[in-house]
Amino acid sequence: MGNIKDYHIATLGSHTALQILKGAKDEGFKTICVCEKGSERPYKSYGVADEIISIDSFKDYFKIEPQLVEKNAILIPHGSFVAHVGAEKAKDIKAMHYGARGILEHEADRGKQRQWLVDAGIKVPKIIKTPQEIDRTVIIKFHGAKGGYGYFLANNEQEFAERIKEFPENDGFVIQEYIVGVPVYAHYFYSRLTGELEIMGFDKRYESNADSIGRIAAKDQVEANIHTTYTIVGNTSLVVRESLLTGIFEMGDKVVAQSKNLVPGGFYGPFCLEGVIDPELNYYVFEISARIVAGTNPYVNGSPYTALRYNEPMSTGRRLCRDIKMAIEGDRLGEILG
Ligand code: AMP
Ligand code: AMP
Repeated sequence: MGNIKDYHIATLGSHTALQILKGAKDEGFKTICVCEKGSERPYKSYGVADEIISIDSFKDYFKIEPQLVEKNAILIPHGSFVAHVGAEKAKDIKAMHYGARGILEHEADRGKQRQWLVDAGIKVPKIIKTPQEIDRTVIIKFHGAKGGYGYFLANNEQEFAERIKEFPENDGFVIQEYIVGVPVYAHYFYSRLTGELEIMGFDKRYESNADSIGRIAAKDQVEANIHTTYTIVGNTSLVVRESLLTGIFEMGDKVVAQSKNLVPGGFYGPFCLEGVIDPELNYYVFEISARIVAGTNPYVNGSPYTALRYNEPMSTGRRLCRDIKMAIEGDRLGEILG
């Protein structure tokens, strides 16, 4: 039987690192936090890192990777890894790392993501192919836009033509039907070891300035020429109407089943379906994150859903580390490393 004392859990110091490292310690692991110089303080203050490795930029990750390999560290890739090191670099990771091989590439590519959802039978917002075909309210999303910055809405071709002038140097965009409803981000965990899909919780994002526009009158919005942006600032917790849960479990099952056609053996671990629920209770999903999402951060101590299932605080970060622990102790580590 493997012993978890022979391993470290490591991650980059941003996004969900506090939660992951706390969860790792709660499961009995030693931890390493790789920080950008000047960003070490939270990881020291909250006492989650047994060791801190500082680098100038996350882009230098590969320079310190040999230290992780030497310490038998298992790296947990999260949103900051994808954003700062790059999903395409995930295949160059030499350190042991959690997650299905090749899956981060699906998450980084909007077209591939959408195909995954559509093939799984999930409702997605309609794509409008050309500006001439805009016949409803649409959202224009630029490729590679960090955190929704610069997205804009249009109701017809003329409005589109007017607004797109402000972005002469864009790298391309998609035009998507704008769904009027409330945002709901569903957090799941699928374990390859137990074969079970769990709903870990839900969040709703707090985005600037989208979540503040309602604080000023429509007339002032127009006069001040304020445009909606969706820069993520934080997340708030949420529970959904209980009768929605059955459908949300089924959506998770479908995504997991379809992933078997995308990567060998299928996808496992934490993932998130990000969408909007309309007044008819249709759940339109516009994005899938095939890794831990920061919306799980309100639940370091567990969510109302994990409280139902576990008699101890169970964050998504801790659940993930428990999967690793089970794998080590059951000599099945190969099944959960990318
Ligand atoms: P950061 O390390 O804060 O620059 O975040 C890396 C990436 O994760 C960015 O693309 C962010 O948009 C995303 N991200 C960070 N924090 C959150 C959050 N609380 N909710 C959703 N996405 C986030
Ligand atoms: P994304 O970059 O795809 O995560 O989108 C950023 C934000 O834009 C989301 O959190 C939503 O608030 C909003 N959004 C994106 N797509 C849609 C859509 N089709 N309908 C309504 N709101 C959307």
